[in-house]
Amino acid sequence: MNLNTLKPGQSARITTVGGEGALRQHFLDMGVIPGAEVTLIKLAPMGDPMELRIHGYELTLRLSEAEKIDIEPISADSKDSKENVNPETLSHRKTSEHPGLGEEGRFHLKGDGNPLPEGTKLTFALVGNQNSGKTTLFNQLTGSNQHVGNFPGVTVDRKDGVIRGYPDSLITDLPGIYSMSPFTSEELVSRNFVLQEKPKAIINIVDATNIERNLYLTMQLLEMNVPMVVALNMMDELRGNGGTVDVNSMEAMLGVPVVPISAAKNEGVDELVRHAIHIAKYQERPVRYDYCDPEDHGGAVHRAFHAVSHLIEDHGKREGIPFRFAAAKLLEGDMSFVEALRLDQNEQEMLEHIILQMENERGLDHSAAMAEMRFDFIMKLCDQCVTKPQESREHKRSRKIDDVLTGKYTAIPFFIGIMTLVFYLTFFLIGPFLQDLLQSGIDFLKDLTETGMVAAHVNEAIQSLVLDGIFEGVGTVVSFLPIIMLMFFFLSMLEDSGYIARVAFVMDKLLRKIGLSGRSIVPLLLGFGCTVPAVMSTRTLPSDRDRRMTILLTPFMSCTAKLPIYGFFVSVFFPKHAWLIITGLYLLGIVLGILLAFIFKSTLFKGKAVPFVMELPNYRIPRLKNVRQLLWEKAKDFLQRAFTVIFIATIVVWFLSHFNFKLDLVDNSHDSILAAIAGILVPIMKPIGLGDWRIVTSLISGFMAKESVVSVMETLFGGELTSLGIASAVSMLVFSLLYTPCVAAVAAIRREMGRWWALAVVLWQCTLAWVAAFAAHLILTLFGIT
Ligand code: GDP
Ligand code: MG
Repeated sequence: MNLNTLKPGQSARITTVGGEGALRQHFLDMGVIPGAEVTLIKLAPMGDPMELRIHGYELTLRLSEAEKIDIEPISADSKDSKENVNPETLSHRKTSEHPGLGEEGRFHLKGDGNPLPEGTKLTFALVGNQNSGKTTLFNQLTGSNQHVGNFPGVTVDRKDGVIRGYPDSLITDLPGIYSMSPFTSEELVSRNFVLQEKPKAIINIVDATNIERNLYLTMQLLEMNVPMVVALNMMDELRGNGGTVDVNSMEAMLGVPVVPISAAKNEGVDELVRHAIHIAKYQERPVRYDYCDPEDHGGAVHRAFHAVSHLIEDHGKREGIPFRFAAAKLLEGDMSFVEALRLDQNEQEMLEHIILQMENERGLDHSAAMAEMRFDFIMKLCDQCVTKPQESREHKRSRKIDDVLTGKYTAIPFFIGIMTLVFYLTFFLIGPFLQDLLQSGIDFLKDLTETGMVAAHVNEAIQSLVLDGIFEGVGTVVSFLPIIMLMFFFLSMLEDSGYIARVAFVMDKLLRKIGLSGRSIVPLLLGFGCTVPAVMSTRTLPSDRDRRMTILLTPFMSCTAKLPIYGFFVSVFFPKHAWLIITGLYLLGIVLGILLAFIFKSTLFKGKAVPFVMELPNYRIPRLKNVRQLLWEKAKDFLQRAFTVIFIATIVVWFLSHFNFKLDLVDNSHDSILAAIAGILVPIMKPIGLGDWRIVTSLISGFMAKESVVSVMETLFGGELTSLGIASAVSMLVFSLLYTPCVAAVAAIRREMGRWWALAVVLWQCTLAWVAAFAAHLILTLFGIT
C-alpha cells in the first residue's frame, strides 16, 4: 500500500521510504521514517498536495512523492503497546524533581574551572527549526527589531546582535533549519556557520509543542561538540494545554543545560542568557554525543557509528571537523566529508564495507537507519521526560480555521476574497482617506511656508524651489505613506498569522503548472510590498531553478513604490474609474508574469519543480508588537528615501530644469539643461506616446526610486499634465508597471543571481515595458481615444 492511497482521516504506519538523494534525506529528516505513524488530514482543494500529521505536526506532501512511500495498516495490538506508558518510566517521573517555567535548569558538569580569558568575544549561534521562535527570542535577547513571521523561513539572512547587558557577546540569528543535511541553501548557511565560523556556543531553540521533530536537529547539533544550551520555547503554550517537560531528566539525557522559556512572553530568557554565557565562558561541551543504543535492533547502527568514528577521529582532529558529526554524515551518505577529511582509498573502502554491513544487519538503507536511530532516541527521551498536552487550544482552533481556509470548496473563494478585501481596504476605503488627511496637512504647511516666504521677500527662484520642487515633489510622495503602510500591514498580518503557508498549500498545484511550487507564493506575494525582501525570501526555496525563476517573476508583481504613479495618473485622468484601472494594472502584471513563466518553463528553466514538503504551523494571532515594529521600519525606510534620494532628485531636477548650460535662469524649461539631456531618449519613447523630455526624465529618476517619478513630474509639469492625453497616460501606466525595477531591487537580484542576470532583467523589463506600452497606445489610438 502506498501513502497516496490513504483516505482522509485514516492512519497508517510507514514501512519504507522510496526516492533518492537529498530529497529523500529531507523526508527522513522531517520525520517521515519507517515505523512512524501518519494520518492523512486532507487533500488540497485541487486534489494535490496532501496534508499529513506525523510526529505531532502537520506536513504537506505531493501525491507523486507520497507514492514512493509504502505504508501498512496499524494493527490494534501495536497501537496499544505504543500508548501504554511503561510503568518504570512512570515511577521515574514521580520521583524526579520538576522545574517548571522560570525555574533554572542546572546541568553544568564542569563548573567554574578554566574560563576563557577576560575580554574574549563570546559568539553565539541561534539555531533551531523554522517557526520555533528564533527571531522572537533574538529580539528579546538583543532588543533589536527583526521581522518575525509565521511562515517557515522568514529569516533569510543571518542577523547579528549583542545580547543586552553583555557587551562582549555577539549572537547570530541563523535561518531556520530542520537538519544539518544541506537541502536548501539556508541549511548550508547554518551548517557552514557552525563548522567554519566556530561560534563559542550554540543556543538551540526547541519548540516544546513540537518537540519530537525539533529534537532531531538538537541531536545533530550535539554531535558537533560545541558548547550548547537548549532553550525550550513555547512553554506557555505547552503548559497552558496541560503538558509538562521534566527538564532535569531531559538535561541528564541530553547532557546539556535545558532552560524552559517563553520567548513571546519574555519568561525564562534571563536564565537562558546566564546559562549561555556560562557554557560559552567555561567552554562546557555536551557531556554526551553518543545516542546510538547497542540494544537497538541488534546494535547494527551503534557498531557502525562507532567503527566509523574511530576510523576518522584523527582525520577529524587534523582538519578541525567534529569527528562524531562527520561520522554521522558519512553514514547518512553525505560524501562531501570524504573529501573534507581527506580519507584515502583504503579508508574509503573500509567505510563502504562498514555501511554495507550496517545495512545488511539492520535491513534498512543507511540514511533511513540513521534517521530511525535518532528518532528512536527521541521517542525514549519523550517517554521519559515529556507529558504530552491534550490537543492544544491553538491546534483545535487551527483545525477549525483550516476547515474553511483550506477546505475543498471554500479555500479558493476565501483566498480571492481575502486578497480582494486587502486591496479594497488599502486602495479604496482606508488608504485614500488617510492620504487626503495627510495631503491636507502638507498643503497647510505649504501655504504657511508660502505666506512666510512672501512676507520675508525671499528670492523667487528659491521660492519656486521650495514650493514647486520640494513641497510638490516630496510632499506628493509622502502623501502615499499611508497606502504603502497599509499594504505592508496586511501582508505582514497574513504572513504572521500563518495564512500564507496555507496559500502555498492551496496554490501548489496551480503554481506547478507554471513550473513552480507552492513555496514560491511567498516571494511573489511579498513582491506586492517591495521587490527587495521578495527577492531575498527566495532563499527559502529548496532548488536553484525555482529560486531563479521566482526571482525573475517578482518584478511583475507591482510593488508599492509604483502606487504613487498609479494614484497620480488615475486621479488626473480617470478619477471615476480609479479602482478599475489600478486592479487592471495589477492583473496585467500577473498575467504577463504567468506568460513569461510558461516561456521560461519550456526554455531556460526546463526540469521539474522541487517537491513540496512544508510544515503548516498553527495559526497564531499576529503580535501587535511585531507588526508595529515592521511598520515602523518600513515607514522609517520610506521617509528616509523620501528625504534623501527623492529630495535630492527633486532638487537636482529642479535645478537642471530651471537653468540652461550658461547657468542662466530660463523662462521656459524647454530651454533647460535637462530638456537637452533627456531629449536624447525622446525619440525612443515617441512611438509609445511618451516622447516628452519631462516624462523621460521622471522615468529615469524612477530607476533610483520609483516614488520619485511622481515628484519629478510634479516639479516639471506643474499643473499642465492633462495635456498628455488619455492614450499617453495609459501608456505611461503600463510602462511604469513593467519597466526596470529600481536600483535597490536590481542590486538584490544581482546578489542572488549575479551581475549578468541583473543586467538582463533591466534590459528585458524595459523592452517588455516598451512593447506592452506600444501595444496599449496603438490600440487606444486606433479606437480614436487619445
Ligand atoms: P522563527 O521562524 O524561528 O524565527 O520564529 P518566529 O520568531 O518568527 O516565531 C514564530 C511564531 O511563534 C510567531 O508567531 C511568534 O509570535 C510565535 N512565538 C514565538 N515564541 C513564542 C512563545 O514563547 N510562545 C508562544 N505562544 N508563541 C511564540
Ligand atoms: Mg525567524
